[in-house]
Amino acid sequence: MENKPLRVRFAPSPTGPLHIGGVRTALYNYLFARKYGGTMILRIEDTDQARYVEGAERYIIEALSWCGITFDEGVHVGGPYAPYRQSDRKDIYFEYAEKLVHDGFAYYAFDTPEEIEERRKSAERSTRKPFQYDVFTRKSMRNSLTLPASEVSKLLASGMPFVIRIKIPQDIIIEINDIIRGHVAVESNLLDDKVLFKSDGMPTYHLANVVDDFLMGITHVIRGEEWLPSAPLHALLYRFLGIEKDMPQFAHLPLLLRPDGNGKLSKRDGDRLGFPVFPLRWVDPKTGEISSGYRESGYYPEAFVNILALLGWNPGTAQECFSMNELIDQFSLERVSKSGAKFDVEKARWFNQHYLRMQSAESLCDQLLELMNPENGFIDRNKLTTIIPLVIDRVNFVHELWGQLWFFFEKPTSYDVDLINKRWKPETSRVLQWLAEVLGGITDFSAGSLSCIVKAAMEKESLNPGSVMLPLRIALVGSAMGPDLFQIMHYLGKKETLERIDGAINSISVG
Ligand code: GLU
Repeated sequence: MENKPLRVRFAPSPTGPLHIGGVRTALYNYLFARKYGGTMILRIEDTDQARYVEGAERYIIEALSWCGITFDEGVHVGGPYAPYRQSDRKDIYFEYAEKLVHDGFAYYAFDTPEEIEERRKSAERSTRKPFQYDVFTRKSMRNSLTLPASEVSKLLASGMPFVIRIKIPQDIIIEINDIIRGHVAVESNLLDDKVLFKSDGMPTYHLANVVDDFLMGITHVIRGEEWLPSAPLHALLYRFLGIEKDMPQFAHLPLLLRPDGNGKLSKRDGDRLGFPVFPLRWVDPKTGEISSGYRESGYYPEAFVNILALLGWNPGTAQECFSMNELIDQFSLERVSKSGAKFDVEKARWFNQHYLRMQSAESLCDQLLELMNPENGFIDRNKLTTIIPLVIDRVNFVHELWGQLWFFFEKPTSYDVDLINKRWKPETSRVLQWLAEVLGGITDFSAGSLSCIVKAAMEKESLNPGSVMLPLRIALVGSAMGPDLFQIMHYLGKKETLERIDGAINSISVG
């Protein structure tokens, strides 16, 4: 085992869009593989035909590629262990199930769903405990352990539907060592005789997962904590199949929790919590319901990856911002915590701002124009590029930029009424008139020169700067928002500045 080349897999089931917890699982597998020069595999686990969702596989591939998580082998890139989609491998699994039956580790069960339901009801009525098909109850069910061999052969030959169940041994302790959780032990009597092979001719997740991990030479199984209860069953399967020495090492990742710590963040949370739970937008193929995605909400993939990396792993230092290469360099499973990680939406926005500020103004300009096209085709690119740095600290996303700088390009069409009621005094129009005259006399309309001259003029007239600058801001922008006023005037130019002051005096004093 030690000398085997490191191979990990991300093995989603295409039952819907990938949830952010799933992306994190893929990410940790990826970081681990890249750090140690291992192989990263994408296997699609679609043995549950009833839960198959059209478009989910495509979505998974697109989402991971947006994140920059790449694969060496997989359903979309091929590889030496192809096929990588379990429904395309369905002929492989039956012989493993049969071998288990032959060796006495599994059995055929002929109980119909109705019979099991009947048993469940009566058992729950009499014992008040949930019924499970296990070491105790299997003795009174219709299976190859209770029926005579001749009857079993007859039933099988007659085409009677059957499933194959694992025969969990009685009174043993099953132990596994998990890289994150440490030593885990369960009593076999608590486990149920899980179905390994279904009557529809397909294996269940448990059998297919173990067989494929074995056949694909997987050395480490890194997956969500929800699979921890299945790990003892998987360990037994390795033992029963005689491949225990090839059993991968397990690492079960902590749950992603809702921001208030109240329960697991689930797909069903959709957009209800005020942030997306999916990497990309998803349109439900059946209901048409739309769920938002990080990509469409304006997150950079670098920010998204950074956020996910820290949800469950910590570097042991104060560093918070990591490029993918830094993550690869510093990641270790030993530093993944056991306890659940709370999603923090404010922090997520903060990360996006960090990556936003790393973009050049030219690139931000392109990104913004692309979002605004085609209506705003008239915007002066050069002007936009110089203005973006003035407001960059005020936004977390590219789509928020225009809301912070539109007034550099358009006159305000309305004025903030509350602010006017509070701050527009009877003498304000006269003060602005005076200011317009001062500005009219200035030839160097740079921010520096405007600042010097206007400040000196206010001082000379003993005017309180607030009584001049706030009305000026209302006149130029329409409200109290925006960056430095001298910068605004500089970019508007003298003519436009004076027109806006004039416009405000006329409409506000008249209105
Ligand atoms: N197909 C399982 C899932 O959808 C994979 C679990 C595992 O990685 O073993 O999560």
